[in-house]
Amino acid sequence: KLAKILHLASLYIEFFNRHDPGLSLGMIEVWAKKYGFSNKFNPDDIGLNINSQTKDIFPLFELELKESDDYDKIVETARSELINLSKELIVRILDQKNEVDTLRKQVTLDAMTGLNNYQHFYELLHKEIYRSSRYKSPLSLIFADIDDFKTINDTLGHLAGDKAIKAIAVYLKKSLRTSDLVARYGGEEFAIILPETPLEGAVTVAERIRKEIQSLKIAFEEKSISLTVSFGVASAPLEEEIAREELVKRADKALYQAKAKGKNRTCASK
Ligand code: GH3
Ligand code: MG
Ligand code: MG
Repeated sequence: KLAKILHLASLYIEFFNRHDPGLSLGMIEVWAKKYGFSNKFNPDDIGLNINSQTKDIFPLFELELKESDDYDKIVETARSELINLSKELIVRILDQKNEVDTLRKQVTLDAMTGLNNYQHFYELLHKEIYRSSRYKSPLSLIFADIDDFKTINDTLGHLAGDKAIKAIAVYLKKSLRTSDLVARYGGEEFAIILPETPLEGAVTVAERIRKEIQSLKIAFEEKSISLTVSFGVASAPLEEEIAREELVKRADKALYQAKAKGKNRTCASK
């Protein structure tokens, strides 16, 4: 019975949607008779009822209808209103998506260099350590710290120091693989996570970067800044999942050794 009622209801929808409502009304009569409802209701009365109730409901959707509007006009108004609503919604959703993207960038990236920030670095490291331990794949971490950076600030000024940090960030981004994750760990310190890379591979990468940075000429006003960087490298052991703090500690210790041994060099954690 419910199915029959639903079928008749759907025919009413067609009736309100069609340009020759007479045909739909005829169909409703035919089916109502077939279903044995013909003596229980009058299709015309129901049509009128729907029409008057539609006029009560439409203002809820902020549609303006005049007393004189007929079915076609009502349906047409509703359709164009729906199209407008969909367009507005799409524009609003796109705006919100852009806002979310901007916020995500603000939360995860360092404003000065556009590299991953300290907080995001720890999240990325956590994920990579998990992946490395799960799939038994190598993972290395490089810490890099600009040598005697204080001297650059002291002799050329803070703006020169900023320029140098930005230049190193640009260089790191373009000279590493897209799968390598570069972060600004602190003022003039950078961290690079290298998935699928064992210790020896990471040392080779660090040495290549070190030599290239050594010969970089960073333009600042009429001057040119030259600098060197020290590197500390550590790898996650394959046999167990290492805590991220422990891996950071090992890379930091290796970096400290590089500084102690005279700077502008790479040391690896045993
Ligand atoms: P070392 O070779 O041992 O690394 O010595 P260093 O002078 O590089 O290191 P130190 O930690 O003594 O000094 C780092 C300086 O970096 C101190 C701080 O004022 C400066 N610094 C940190 N962040 C920024 C920044 O965003 N811009 C500039 N211009 N300087 C910064
Ligand atoms: Mg430092
Ligand atoms: Mg330094």
